Amino acid sequence: PARPLFAEQLPAGLQTISSIVAVSSCKGGVGKSTVAVNLAYTLADMGARVGIFDADVYGPSLPTMVSPENRLLEMNPEKRTIIPTEYLGVKLVSFGFAGQGRAIMRGPMVSGVINQLLTTTEWGELDYLIIDMPPGTGDIQLTLCQIVPLTAAVIVTTPQKLSFIDVAKGVRMFSKLKVPCVAVVENMCHFDADGKRYYPFGRGSGSQVVQQFGIPHLFDMPIRPTLSASGDSGMPEVVADPQGEASKIFQDLGVCV
Ligand code: ADP
Repeated sequence: PARPLFAEQLPAGLQTISSIVAVSSCKGGVGKSTVAVNLAYTLADMGARVGIFDADVYGPSLPTMVSPENRLLEMNPEKRTIIPTEYLGVKLVSFGFAGQGRAIMRGPMVSGVINQLLTTTEWGELDYLIIDMPPGTGDIQLTLCQIVPLTAAVIVTTPQKLSFIDVAKGVRMFSKLKVPCVAVVENMCHFDADGKRYYPFGRGSGSQVVQQFGIPHLFDMPIRPTLSASGDSGMPEVVADPQGEASKIFQDLGVCV
């Protein structure tokens, strides 16, 4: 359930948002953006008003994963605000919709761009803003977490990349900022073929991790070619196949945030 934030803590642009959820990973390529986008569309399907903020300035994924008709953010020149683009009712902001090439910037500049995109956007009334965090736990991530009072964090990892040290870094960053880590998603954990289950990256230590850090939920997300194909096609899997296996897992995750 959405937990209202204290309005006075929030930058002006974020005051009409009830819950801000960070989807985070220690490393790139583990499926963080896939989880963020599918979680957002699941919440929208449940009836929530949702926005996605793609905070990965170096490698924005949102423009690939969703195909809004209008692929450029608009400006309101009088108010000097940004108007998000939209796909199937979900509001979208990404550096990839800002009409510029791939970013070559130093950290402090990136933090400035993220801050500006996030806080000058006219998000309107939202139940959830899902933030697709840049991978890692460095300065950019920390600054972002300090700008925004997050309601919850979801950590995405894959079995072979899941180590206590990495997940601990993420959990520690959020706990320092008093943000509850509500779930770990162990992505690409297995696939089924010929009536057998295969664990190509080995068995993850997910259950140990959640126990050690007191994280209330662990989700195993299998390798699904359709999850990857739909991500590349611009239509998230939960939209393309609302009754599918992935959609059920995302619905359970949606209830946790
Ligand atoms: P990250 O945001 O962590 O860099 P992405 O979400 O961009 O990772 O995912 C990396 C690639 O892996 C993408 O091509 C995506 O479609 C694919 N992918 C992610 N999760 C799965 C999965 N469970 N099954 C199959 N492919 C996946």
